[in-house]
Amino acid sequence: MKKISQIGKASLGCGPLIQPLSETARPLRQQIFERVRAAGQMARVQLAKELCISPASVTTITSELIDTGLLEEVQTTREGEGGRGRPAVALRVRPNTRHVVGIKLSDREHTAVLVDFAGNMIAGEAIPRSPGAMGIDGILEAAERLLHRVCAKGGVDREAILALGLGVPGFVDSEAGVVHWSPVLSDRHVGLQAALRDRLGLTVFIDNDANLVTLAELWFGAGRKLSDFAVVTIEHGLGMGFVINHRIYRGSRGMGMELGHTKVQLDGALCRCGQRGCLEAYVADYALVREARTALNLPLGETQPVGVMLESLFDHAKAGNAAARSIFRRAGRYLAVGLSNIVNLFDPALIILSGERMRYDYLYATETLAEMHELMLDTGRDGPRIETHAWGDLLWAHGAAALALHELTEQLLGTSREMAAQ
Ligand SMILES: [Zn+2]
Repeated sequence: MKKISQIGKASLGCGPLIQPLSETARPLRQQIFERVRAAGQMARVQLAKELCISPASVTTITSELIDTGLLEEVQTTREGEGGRGRPAVALRVRPNTRHVVGIKLSDREHTAVLVDFAGNMIAGEAIPRSPGAMGIDGILEAAERLLHRVCAKGGVDREAILALGLGVPGFVDSEAGVVHWSPVLSDRHVGLQAALRDRLGLTVFIDNDANLVTLAELWFGAGRKLSDFAVVTIEHGLGMGFVINHRIYRGSRGMGMELGHTKVQLDGALCRCGQRGCLEAYVADYALVREARTALNLPLGETQPVGVMLESLFDHAKAGNAAARSIFRRAGRYLAVGLSNIVNLFDPALIILSGERMRYDYLYATETLAEMHELMLDTGRDGPRIETHAWGDLLWAHGAAALALHELTEQLLGTSREMAAQ
């Protein structure tokens, strides 16, 4: 006789327990909206095919999205026999009813872009600033000024802005909206998201600037078709953004992927974070400047702006100055250690090196990449593709706008709407 399980003892099951609505199972309306936005425009029949759902379901959901003003129909042509196009109807994001602004705060200037709901850039603006950390009031004032100016430049009413995405360098808990430390902020543990929301009367999302440039690659650049890739940013600090399954990975407390503060030397060089031996303390521009002072034989007490000193160091290296060359070479070797660690940990398809300092090609010399290969596990396979992208601050701000669009989409169509309805 077959033995029956004891009555009342519930099975615990096995396998991952995934929430009914989560990042891996987003509502169908959100999937449809995001697919249309990514394609630019798409026919209903194609949506049904790609999402493996019935044409009737697509019709019902897209009608709802059209009624709420998120999508609109657009006339297109379908290629027929003999090369003659037959008129057809596709869907696209209705661009002009909703707008978002992205802002990047940095050491030298603050930049902003205004984009419509389809992600098209309408205007960009930058305001210079004096270097160094600012108080929260200065940051709020700068953000308000930029918001006002970019709206005026784009001819968009301030009231039409639904959300603001903002990026700062440093340690940012994106989910909690707190900046724990940033070189542009004089205070620690600042609730920047809430402060900006109160000042501007807008929905605000914040993140660290490395995640923003990663979002820019994911939404507008080389990462659009890739499910897994890394972006390493090198400028005043060393940052990293990582995409897993087409989504930014932030860690369980929103603070993951701090490549710059992984230790490469016990009791090593002093880092801006207060600890010693961080990768950033060997590769970032302040690390180069620290050594440049000796290489360029600058008298004690003489100060020059970081940019000027780096340019001078680079010129000396190009002209054959052995000390200057050795500074770049050493930084390049440490960078190789960092890159090989990324490969050994994550095995990404592509690593994008991004930032203003791309012109210091000594850092990305063949020797650096050869050294990275030597430090990678030898599996007999090729390593990931490495690309260098010299993007300006405006593109980083574009990433901030993508953050606002992403989060706003979640709020309008995603799991957060389900939560709010509960
Ligand atoms: Zn550090």
